[in-house]
Amino acid sequence: MTSTFVRDLMAELKAKNPMEPEFHQAVQEVIESLDLVLIRRPEYRSACIIERMVEPERVLMFRVPWQDDRGEVHINRGFRIEMNSAIGPYKGGLRFHPSVNLGILKFLAFEQVFKNSLTTLSMGGGKGGSDFDPKGKSDNEVMRFCQSFMTELSRHIGPDTDVPAGDIGVGGREIGFLFGQYKRLRNEFTGVLTGKGLNWGGSLIRPEATGYGAVYFAAEMLATRNETLEGKVCLVSGSGNVAQYTVEKLLQLGAKSVTLSDSDGYIYDEAGIDAGKLAFVMDLKNVRRGRIREYADKYRGAVYTPHDARSDTNPLWNHKAHCAFPSATQNEISATDAANLLRNRVYVVSEGANMPTVLDGVRQFIDAGILYGPGKAANAGGVATSGLEMSQNSARISWTREEVDQRLHGIMRAIHRNCRETADTFGTPGNYVNGANIAGFLKVADAMMDQGLV
Ligand code: NAP
Repeated sequence: MTSTFVRDLMAELKAKNPMEPEFHQAVQEVIESLDLVLIRRPEYRSACIIERMVEPERVLMFRVPWQDDRGEVHINRGFRIEMNSAIGPYKGGLRFHPSVNLGILKFLAFEQVFKNSLTTLSMGGGKGGSDFDPKGKSDNEVMRFCQSFMTELSRHIGPDTDVPAGDIGVGGREIGFLFGQYKRLRNEFTGVLTGKGLNWGGSLIRPEATGYGAVYFAAEMLATRNETLEGKVCLVSGSGNVAQYTVEKLLQLGAKSVTLSDSDGYIYDEAGIDAGKLAFVMDLKNVRRGRIREYADKYRGAVYTPHDARSDTNPLWNHKAHCAFPSATQNEISATDAANLLRNRVYVVSEGANMPTVLDGVRQFIDAGILYGPGKAANAGGVATSGLEMSQNSARISWTREEVDQRLHGIMRAIHRNCRETADTFGTPGNYVNGANIAGFLKVADAMMDQGLV
């Protein structure tokens, strides 16, 4: 049952932030959980903590002009949402994708505040990016775009102020170009970005961290039922950074991934994606920058199904399996997809992507009592390892692969425990959505209370 507080807050939010449905969705999911807190802690109501948290501390929007290889001029739009700095400098990725707009970035920045709080590290929340599409661009075009983008962004960020990282469309190549331009403009070599190359300040395991973390989170959820991932059949969407390392860790733990996708379609490989096939995907996506359909050309047992833009359902989610790891983008699991997953007996969903499930789908998962790990908990391993990169940069040291992986694993265990215990404390055992939203909120809200009306 939705309370008057939730209804009034949502009405005001929609009026003030029209045409931003993803932002509305992200806030709605969180404040439905927070209703449980406000009954016990009315001081948050009188201090208007939630009303303050849905208003970004600062929104930057700027012009990004650049020239393509033929000398033609293009103008894109750049953004940085500095959402909340109560517990540390703003931290969150940059997304380069044609769908990027203010509402998408506000939803991502809002989610990031709770996620960063859950990591146990001191990081505020932010997010940024551009409607620039790196797909089909030459390396030189991507470099010119990144340099122009950073020329403006560099005025607003810094190692103690705001530390961006990658997200969709921003990988190692883009972080390199962005870092190079920041260094040139500021004449400073600092940890202003995370996801850097290994020989210029990057951390081992950062590329792997989000995917590995989502798998560690699934393993923790399964452990509550005395089960492991060994022998489990898994549906994975996307084929970028998060999807690739999800498949890698699943393989290491004895599970079998049978799907991968991109925006054009998906492949189903009943035999499973083994180490050799995964190496092919990594080369295809990270080096040759090709399309996932080529997987089915190479491996005859696999079936490729093109994406149907008119359908509200994705057949990738309609295969028999035990676990699902959505790792592509927001709202990729519709209400029908959620029903299909449940009908196919999927009982573990660990979200590598941010908000990949529509609200109705989330409700179905919770009502069915499956092990459902929402993105802000399950994919927090990426930003947590970014936090570890910041620590190594500040101390000018680098930890070994084993050390970073161990810390990442420990953080994912701690996030899982915190979500589970918080869900219990607030009377909704097994509900990781309430657990993540409330545990993430409490740390930030208490810091805001301590710091006065700012
Ligand atoms: P990525 O390397 O750019 O890969 C994104 C993948 O998702 C690609 O296969 C892409 O296909 C697909 N995709 C993107 N937009 C799509 C759309 N609108 N419809 C269908 N497919 C789409 O990005 P990533 O870093 O793996 O990020 C994936 C998800 O994880 C995002 O939700 C991101 O916010 C979240 N996440 C990432 C990190 C991180 O550390 N990277 C951390 C936490 C959460 P195309 O190539 O065809 O576009």
